Amino acid sequence: GDWLGMIGGGQLGRMFCHAAQSLGFKVAVLDPDPLSPAGAVAERHIRAAYDDAEALAELAGICKAVTTEFENVPAASLEALAGHGALTRPDARAVAIVQDRIQEKAFLTRSGVPVAPYQPIENPAAIVSAPDALFPGILKAARLGYDGKGQVRVSSREQALQAFHDLGGRPCVLEALLPLDHEISVVLARGVDGATVVYPSATNAHRDGILAVSSVDAAAATGDVSRAAGEAALQIAEALHYVGVLCVEFFVLTDGRLIANEIAPRPHNSGHYTMNASVVSQFEQQVRATAGLPLGDTGSLASVVMLNLLGDLWFEADAATAREPDWASVLAVPGAQLHLYGKAEARRGRKMGHVNVLGADMAQAQQRARRVAAVLGLPLDA
Ligand code: ATP
Ligand code: MG
Ligand code: MG
Repeated sequence: GDWLGMIGGGQLGRMFCHAAQSLGFKVAVLDPDPLSPAGAVAERHIRAAYDDAEALAELAGICKAVTTEFENVPAASLEALAGHGALTRPDARAVAIVQDRIQEKAFLTRSGVPVAPYQPIENPAAIVSAPDALFPGILKAARLGYDGKGQVRVSSREQALQAFHDLGGRPCVLEALLPLDHEISVVLARGVDGATVVYPSATNAHRDGILAVSSVDAAAATGDVSRAAGEAALQIAEALHYVGVLCVEFFVLTDGRLIANEIAPRPHNSGHYTMNASVVSQFEQQVRATAGLPLGDTGSLASVVMLNLLGDLWFEADAATAREPDWASVLAVPGAQLHLYGKAEARRGRKMGHVNVLGADMAQAQQRARRVAAVLGLPLDA
């Protein structure tokens, strides 16, 4: 079969490999980590840095098309691959915009999608002159933040100046702290021919800045908020001339307004539910879009609650040594499907796997999810 390339060796890359292999492709993964979850299942693991010129030439030599699994892939690497004749999906231009919050927010605003009131902060003077309406606010590093890292809540200019200093004086955005009712996200795929497919929006709950639970009520998939978010996400993908899978995170405010938070140029943790509760998963869509194949059906098969499994679960109370959670008890719950990422070592806060819990309706999915959470000792407030 043909080869597809993957820059990045984490769990998203691993699940892409599985989907690609089941469609008859071979995958070459570029990642420096010899124990990378994706490298372990790929037909070829090129162990080199993401910007290694020789490795990029090798990848382009093997694969007709290359995709990525993390937003901080150097845009220059995608350009280098394109220079070697590989198709890059998404392309360097789209990735460059969404990996920098200053460019991302300017782009969203130009595209007519509402964002939180914000101000680019490149020096302390920009904090001194920022509008009062941005306090209380959140100062976010423009690049390289994830899971709430690289951002600080600030209630005054003094705190913002201190936070800017603490973040190393890097370019940041200061955005107003908004009154959130809840958070949702939309995953979509756009093909080479401009065709698009959209999944129903997931409702997301975070714990300690990390996604904990995503749920999708199959009966509410065509509700007003889900539809508006889907339309905004499509508008974003069109404006980016995007090819591949993309996720947009939204805030639903207490007054009902929908605000775009950020864009991920790849499958997303909040889209893991699609692996079991949708006709075609987000990873298979990424394979299809990357390979230039027709996109698949995003229809829902069930209502679903996705529970993230963080490394903390491997440590009983304050134990220093890790032990494997009781998977048999999880699998005994009807509708529960377990996905482990094959990481070499459990660490607190590290994403180790997830469980998709399906039900005929949302009440059943939630009731089963509570059983899974109970056997694992997971707090479940969502
Ligand atoms: P991710 O892991 O999703 O990439 P991140 O580190 O890029 O996270 P954001 O998604 O920007 O960070 O913010 C993390 C969380 O902080 C949001 O999901 C939301 O709960 C909260 N948050 C961020 N910005 C705002 C805001 N302007 N007003 C209120 N809450 C916010
Ligand atoms: Mg982010
Ligand atoms: Mg986010």
